Amino acid sequence: LAQLYGPLNQLGFMYRTINQSLVDTEKLLQLLNEPTEVNDRDNATTLVVEDGEIEFDNVSFSYDKRTTALHGVSFKVPKGSSVALVGESGAGKSTILRLLYRFYDLPEGGGRILIDGQDIRDVTQKSLRSAIGVVPQDSVLFNTSIAYNIGYGKFGASPEEIEEAAKSAQMHERIVTFPDGYNTKVGERGVRLSGGEKQRVAIARTLLKNPPILLLDEATSALDTSTEKDIQKALQNLQQGRSSLSIAHRLSTIASADVILVLKDGQIVEQGSHAELLALDGVFASMWANQITTSGDEPLAGKALDVP
Ligand code: ATP
Repeated sequence: LAQLYGPLNQLGFMYRTINQSLVDTEKLLQLLNEPTEVNDRDNATTLVVEDGEIEFDNVSFSYDKRTTALHGVSFKVPKGSSVALVGESGAGKSTILRLLYRFYDLPEGGGRILIDGQDIRDVTQKSLRSAIGVVPQDSVLFNTSIAYNIGYGKFGASPEEIEEAAKSAQMHERIVTFPDGYNTKVGERGVRLSGGEKQRVAIARTLLKNPPILLLDEATSALDTSTEKDIQKALQNLQQGRSSLSIAHRLSTIASADVILVLKDGQIVEQGSHAELLALDGVFASMWANQITTSGDEPLAGKALDVP
């Protein structure tokens, strides 16, 4: 029996590893809604992340020959900074995240995407993806305990680490109200979580994963003010010290970004801080004015930045 223990243990580990990557992929496919279709090069190296600086260098990309999804897009996400992508539907925001996660490779002549100077086509997908944490709009949770759902971010995470991540993700206070606390089942057979709660579970999971780079796809649905505040705080904790690229739909996210890139028809048409873009009185300024009047949103970002 003792002889069996080692292999069985190994099998358990493999099962977990495979299962984990399946879930991560499932989660991403849901976010990015795309199949993976790239292969590692024969001489692919392991991505070495020191600063986590991201660079898009003159990136052009088409899904098919008829339309261009991105055209000559260049920008940098410096070490530890946050860049928010805004633009109308079809402008190319998701394509930028998909390309960074390498669901597609850029064609010859389509520019380069670099992380700390390394072309992401030259590194293994495994090393690339382990350096990137994704918080999708709608996270997939298992029909199992909340602790398991959070602990998924890190193999062998201790209960203390799980609790710490939940606290940082503003979810601990909610979890302790559940009938069995961290052992409460979530999903179909357990406690139902709201969209905002699921997102905070995903944030806790990503905190445990501890990646240097983040891709965030903010939920479009309206959230009540206190949920919104909790999520902002959780995201702030997560973004601390990491480079992040987020698709922004709500004013609050836009306000806290270091740089906002405004996309239109696959091109960056404006970029700068919130205040700079408002002063420019162009595409972003009209989107901003429109969002305030149509959503009836409290202009949280405006208050923080001293704009109307
Ligand atoms: P949204 O806010 O609606 O998510 P987006 O700014 O994220 O929009 P993308 O999804 O990046 O926009 O789309 C950019 C362009 O690429 C659009 O013209 C879109 O129709 C096209 N596109 C996106 N995905 C595919 C695909 N799988 N096949 C063909 N064209 C696609």
